Amino acid sequence: MLNSLRVVCSARAALVRTSRLSAARPGHSLSSSLLPRGDTWPCSMAPVKDRGLSYHTSLSHSPRNFCTGQVHPNCWRCQQPLDKIPAFFCQSCEAVQPPEQGASYFEIMACDHTFTLDAHKLQRRYLQLQRALHPDNFGQKSVTEQEFSESQSALVNKAYTTLLKPLSRGLYMLELQGMRIEEGTDSGADTEFLLELMEINEAVDEAQTPEEANKIGQDTKGKLADLTERIDAALREAELQTARALLAQMKYHANIEEKVKEKLREFM
Ligand SMILES: [Zn+2]
Repeated sequence: MLNSLRVVCSARAALVRTSRLSAARPGHSLSSSLLPRGDTWPCSMAPVKDRGLSYHTSLSHSPRNFCTGQVHPNCWRCQQPLDKIPAFFCQSCEAVQPPEQGASYFEIMACDHTFTLDAHKLQRRYLQLQRALHPDNFGQKSVTEQEFSESQSALVNKAYTTLLKPLSRGLYMLELQGMRIEEGTDSGADTEFLLELMEINEAVDEAQTPEEANKIGQDTKGKLADLTERIDAALREAELQTARALLAQMKYHANIEEKVKEKLREFM
């Protein structure tokens, strides 16, 4: 009895799959029709026709795995569809939601996906989210909600600190493009650049007055502003190696900026 039931079930499943398959067939373009013509695949799912037999499995994935970017999940508590991605709260029952796995830090912080993002907007969003997600708000709520609020709050912290500093923001943007850079590996800095940096470092050490230190600080600020523009342009053009080399330079100048601040404190 059990066996025959299983047969019926799997046959039914196959039938469902087949009918989905044929519904999806025209032009093989179920997913590609959801993308602008000529666009690249935004996530790991390759075009259906290239995947041969794995066609079935990709179709049976949950809707969230499709590359549409438009499928809204439902609230875990009341099952109502959520109105946005990522959703921190359900607009119907107000329950806090679990973190949205695929959301980028830019999406979480509702900031434009650019290197030159609006830092004030980032700050405002951060304060607003942390107020809403603060553990004190969940003392009387279920354990699930307490856990979700904690993980959301941790995620917001991580997103905020990553996007706040240009250096970590830039490295994160490279990471989103598939370029991973290990901490402490400084490729792209040539000897000439390093010599120049050594000279500036020495000049900071040897500065005798706040004016001298300030002058170096101003120069460094200018260099950082220039680098910001060039990194922004490189990222916009998807010139990742260039962006990476410029970010390495930025790191050195940012260190000098810190050193100048320290020096100025010594004069106080
Ligand atoms: Zn709900």
